[in-house]
Amino acid sequence: MSASSGAGLSEALHDLPAQYRDLQAEAASLAQAVAGAADRADESSAVDPEMREQLAKSGLTALLVPAAYGGRSEVVDPVAATVVREVLAGTSSHLDSLFAMQGIGSLALGRAGDEELRRRWLPRIATLDAIAALALTEPGVGSDLKAITTTVREDNGSLIVDGHKSFITNAGYADTYTVLGREGDGFSLVLVPADSEGLSTSSPHQIIAPHVLGDVVMDGVRVPAAHRIGPPGGGFPLVLATLATFRVSVAGAALGVAQSALDDAVRYTTGHSAFGAPLHRLGSIPQQLALSWTEIEMARAFTYTAAAAAAQDPGASLHWSSMAKVGATEVAGRVVDRAVQVMGRAGLTRGTVIERMYRAARPMRIYEGGTEALLDALARRLVATQQ
Ligand SMILES: Cc1cc2nc3c(=O)[nH]c(=O)nc-3n(C[C@H](O)[C@H](O)[C@H](O)COP(=O)(O)OP(=O)(O)OC[C@H]3O[C@@H](n4cnc5c(N)ncnc54)[C@H](O)[C@@H]3O)c2cc1C
Repeated sequence: MSASSGAGLSEALHDLPAQYRDLQAEAASLAQAVAGAADRADESSAVDPEMREQLAKSGLTALLVPAAYGGRSEVVDPVAATVVREVLAGTSSHLDSLFAMQGIGSLALGRAGDEELRRRWLPRIATLDAIAALALTEPGVGSDLKAITTTVREDNGSLIVDGHKSFITNAGYADTYTVLGREGDGFSLVLVPADSEGLSTSSPHQIIAPHVLGDVVMDGVRVPAAHRIGPPGGGFPLVLATLATFRVSVAGAALGVAQSALDDAVRYTTGHSAFGAPLHRLGSIPQQLALSWTEIEMARAFTYTAAAAAAQDPGASLHWSSMAKVGATEVAGRVVDRAVQVMGRAGLTRGTVIERMYRAARPMRIYEGGTEALLDALARRLVATQQ
């Protein structure tokens, strides 16, 4: 079996090692089981109970925490996360996000959290009994994280957290928030349980591809000092470690969306005719289909190469993960656009797979590193290596 979703109509070149093909089949079986709920869940800004239940039952979220705390591998494996996200995102972006956030919201805890806190939270996150979230973004701060205004200060063995986090996936549904705040001259990560006094959530933003998203306000929230993850001022290396493991998995999700859109376009253009010929033989349509296929296969080969590099040494391969994320999400943007175009009005109709994939592809070029911000960092590295 290839690295494509398995449901795909196109054959695919890139082959995965056997252990990942098994994982792909496992994810495909979950995707198949929830396919009927995808439309509803992807229109919702609330966690879909059926999706949550089926995902929990699948055991896949155990891939996202270390084995010592109920996980399936000694350390979180970026290839596994990428394989699963490709399959899940091809069916439902809601399901993909619910899966991925368990790792993105908990990697820092698993890497550097207090032992007692790890034992309390990680096994529950592994089983989806508890939902995790990562809170970096603020109303006035996105990519430029060093400009955040949330503060952390120590007071008599406690940490006091004050601030406003915005556009946080799972806000309102998470049991625990990993929050980045300014502590003195540095930045620290703090684990803030959702039921902490002074923490409130709201959902002021609705986006074009509905997402479980909200704001988190912390007003004098007090947690034990042991809730600081890592040393005081040690927040950024842990954020980077999170990105080094999971950024490449966004590329996987983008491939799933792109493949699903292409499959839909092939199905439609072979099943409909105009001017006496099937659409797939008309004008530029064959070129558009073939170009999408070519771009997906190139992005897939690169994504899994970058994921393997991230599995070897996540810190040393963040630039490859960034390239994979930029490449695959930009490909997905082009593929969904072509798919809508070749399907004509059918591609625009609300409630169809292609319309859902068209919208799902768009935020991927913005979150977890906007394309331009990533290209900026890549260009700096490129120039530095040639000087
Ligand atoms: C669906 C979704 C889920 C999200 N979930 C979370 C979450 O769980 N937790 C969380 O903390 N945040 C989350 N976010 C927020 C996300 O991380 C930010 O949107 C992202 O960091 C970009 O910030 P911004 O939107 O403020 O854009 P900005 O940073 O203002 O960027 C605007 C534009 O400028 C470009 N740009 C930025 N910096 C540079 C640069 N140095 N050089 C060149 N161009 C640049 C960007 O690429 C973009 O095109 C989510 C966002 C979305 C859409």
